[in-house]
Amino acid sequence: MPKIWPGQNFVTNAEKSINFTIDHQCPQCGAPAQINETDRLFRCRFCKVSSYLLEHRFFRYLLPSNAPTNKELIYFPYWRFKGMLFSCLPSGIQNRFLDVSHQAVQSPIFPASVGLRSQAMKLRFVSPDTAGWFLRPTLPFKQVMQTFLDRFNRDLPSPVLHQSHIGESLSMIYAPFYKDQLYAGQQIVDAVLNQPVSKAMDEPFDVNTWSGGPADYRINFIPTLCPHCGWDMQGSRDALVLHCNNCASMWKASQKGMTRVNVAHLPADTGNEIVYLPFWRIRADVLGISLATYADLIKVANLPKVVQPGWNKRRFYFWGPAFKLQPRSFLRLTHHITVSQPFDELVAKIPKGAMHPVNLPVSESAETLKLNVAGIMRPQKRVETHIAEINTTPRGYLLVYLPFEKHHHDLVQTTFGIAINRNQLALSTNL
Ligand SMILES: [Zn+2]
Ligand SMILES: [Zn+2]
Repeated sequence: MPKIWPGQNFVTNAEKSINFTIDHQCPQCGAPAQINETDRLFRCRFCKVSSYLLEHRFFRYLLPSNAPTNKELIYFPYWRFKGMLFSCLPSGIQNRFLDVSHQAVQSPIFPASVGLRSQAMKLRFVSPDTAGWFLRPTLPFKQVMQTFLDRFNRDLPSPVLHQSHIGESLSMIYAPFYKDQLYAGQQIVDAVLNQPVSKAMDEPFDVNTWSGGPADYRINFIPTLCPHCGWDMQGSRDALVLHCNNCASMWKASQKGMTRVNVAHLPADTGNEIVYLPFWRIRADVLGISLATYADLIKVANLPKVVQPGWNKRRFYFWGPAFKLQPRSFLRLTHHITVSQPFDELVAKIPKGAMHPVNLPVSESAETLKLNVAGIMRPQKRVETHIAEINTTPRGYLLVYLPFEKHHHDLVQTTFGIAINRNQLALSTNL
């Protein structure tokens, strides 16, 4: 059993990051199943029905209790964030993988974080039939994240010019506790380990003085049938975009149901084995620096190119991977592809052939825009003087598949000179 409540862990090595297992039930036939935290498309082994898991702002999980049966459970909420943190410093951009949890209600009585023990445990989705009193979160995530950053930034050389956290995973974990009369006075006991977490309290703990109530959340499922033609759509278990093979369309889940995603691809011009990798191409307004056209990019990034006629009319787009990758590679690829500005004829269709799943949402890719500018700006010294004034507002996006040749160790995009390690790409689905 890992150490209890070890406090915050800044996980720097992505292999150490935690991917929970969740005990789940098929919404169609009730069969038990285990899914991964990153799973979105659930296909029941028994009834073969697919459903798509949809969070309302974030997923809500609980740690199962081992409390004696007569105890009334109190569920205490924790924010959990898993993702990449990029810090823009005068010397360059530093990256870090974060896997952190923190109280969503300020209280000295309860442990500050969920700690490492959750990796050894299975979670469940919160559902209305969960008995217990759920304390209402009172600290907004933004504030908790700022606390993380303040603490983390103490170890960084100042000034920190800009920071962005990019993660696909924000969730809330409810941990169970109960009151008990141990030793001298009343105490709060961790219902997972059945161990007291607080010292004896002078005042009796009264749960009714805390804002909260019974569980009132239910995980949403939406059908995976194509809204256009009714066909059962395809996707990997962590896919954020589903594919209808019948009418050749792509869809992503939203609170309004499945909404269509505009797709294009760059055709492969080789006979070699190809896999198409997905990228988000984002159109954005940029303030504080001229970056509207390809000619602007050549100036900003100080590219060794002579501006050709028409380049001051060719629109500049931000590019970034639509799939997960280790932070360092993610950043490098984001800059590389943005500087490359694939402007060859894109075909407004889904490519035919193998496609890598989309598992990084466009909303997260949109968080990289300012960071992207900071990474491509040359000379680098200009970042320090300019970054504070730069503002980016995303206006639209397109999902673009680019062809990569399958080599023994790498996937290679020959037009833009990009190589991605296949092994690393395979490991990255757990991030
Ligand atoms: Zn089923
Ligand atoms: Zn269809």
